[in-house]
Amino acid sequence: MTQEKKNIAIIGSGLVGSLLAIYLKRYGHQITVFDRRPDIRNIEFSGRSINLAMSNRGWNALKAVGIEEEIKEIAIPLDKRAMHVIGKEQYFQKYGKDGEAIWSISRGVLNRRMIDLAEKNGVDFRFEEKVWDIDLPEAKVYTGESEKGEWIEYPFDLVFGCDGAFSRVRHKMQRRSRFDYSQNFIDVGYKELTIPANADGSHKLDKNSFHIWPRGKFMFIAMPNLDGSFTCTLFMPFEGEVSFDSLKTKKEAVQFFNTYFPNVKDEIENLTEDFFKNPTSAMVTMKCYPWTYWDKVALVGDSAHAVVPFYGQGMNAGFEDIFVLDQIIQELGNDWQRIFETYQEKRKPNADAIAELSYRNFVEMSSKTADTNFLLQKKIEKHFAAKHPEKWVPAYSRVTFSDRSYAEALAEGDAQEEIMKEVMKTSNISEKWDSEEIEKLMLQLIG
Ligand code: FAD
Repeated sequence: MTQEKKNIAIIGSGLVGSLLAIYLKRYGHQITVFDRRPDIRNIEFSGRSINLAMSNRGWNALKAVGIEEEIKEIAIPLDKRAMHVIGKEQYFQKYGKDGEAIWSISRGVLNRRMIDLAEKNGVDFRFEEKVWDIDLPEAKVYTGESEKGEWIEYPFDLVFGCDGAFSRVRHKMQRRSRFDYSQNFIDVGYKELTIPANADGSHKLDKNSFHIWPRGKFMFIAMPNLDGSFTCTLFMPFEGEVSFDSLKTKKEAVQFFNTYFPNVKDEIENLTEDFFKNPTSAMVTMKCYPWTYWDKVALVGDSAHAVVPFYGQGMNAGFEDIFVLDQIIQELGNDWQRIFETYQEKRKPNADAIAELSYRNFVEMSSKTADTNFLLQKKIEKHFAAKHPEKWVPAYSRVTFSDRSYAEALAEGDAQEEIMKEVMKTSNISEKWDSEEIEKLMLQLIG
């Protein structure tokens, strides 16, 4: 369906804002993207880039605008987890079926590439221009040097808020009546650290694995970069016995890495340096509704739904928002009121579902990995899924490798949990976990 040309503002040139610009420019609209930060293409990463995992939903969104292959060239496929458990040799767990992988990609490199592509197609970027206010009914955007200083007024037909978890656009919507909003921080923070490449540029750990050092209340992960380095993230409580708060001196940090991460001993000098140099950041789940205002303003990505990163789905969910919004645009054409209404109705339940799934994963990782019953249950599920892959798709696969909605993935997970509750009631379950009796019971419960 052809579209009437509109004058559109996108607030935020992050991953979601820049992809949305590429999508909307295809219809011939005039697009201006504002970002309070300098142009990321002119910023030196100093060799240390933060990376994220792209999975099915993200790739689908890139494919629809023909940039999947180009972006795959700057990503590394990870087809398994490499588990680093104290007292055990490193072992691997395949993610899914053959050919299924998540992809490690540098946030900065991806963002630069998408801004380049958008600009090449005629999108106008205005960097270092912070948006202070929006006139919602008039779709006017106000920018300026400071909140109290003089502002420039820009009139638009439509405004998209892609300005992240602490969105200014949403902030304006929050002041309206009947706008629901909640934000919940978890008591765990994170810090990014680096394992540099070998002298010859090769990777020090297996480069096609997502490396995990689970340690109960805290956890260390590492994902590869193209330059041979690994970006690592240490997730740990802010306060408590072993916490960011408890590691104040270099000696304490060295002892911490030595005790809990013996197989990265050679990296300790580097890790400790990063530990004190890099900030400790917080993680939040943010929910709100409605996401749109009349036919004028819509929130997309983290500004509408920020989730904790334990499923690696925040960006993927934001990209899926754009993919779905675009399908609705193609169906409804110029009726932006209905486009926006349909978009928020379709996406909100899915955003809530991935928020819940991500939070549950955090709880599992931080408090259930030492629970023997929980571990036994997981072992039974894995055994059964291997025998009956068509009857039992693990939650991780449903979220990561499928196109089915997050809401369905959550509902199916809940149904599986009910089945497992029954299974775990079986007497002497720890001895029978791989028996025919349990297999039969599960088949019967699945129905
Ligand atoms: P942002 O990336 O926050 O971009 C917002 C942009 O808006 C910024 O450029 C900002 O400068 C600009 N802006 C803000 N306010 C204004 C203003 N007033 N005026 C002008 N500009 C403004 N997701 C995954 O899919 N996979 C992963 O593996 C993954 N790992 C993660 C690990 C961690 C530790 C964290 C914290 C998140 C992770 N995520 C992951 C989530 C992912 O980073 C986010 O979902 C994604 O970056 C959201 O993109 P966005 O464009 O909506 O927002």
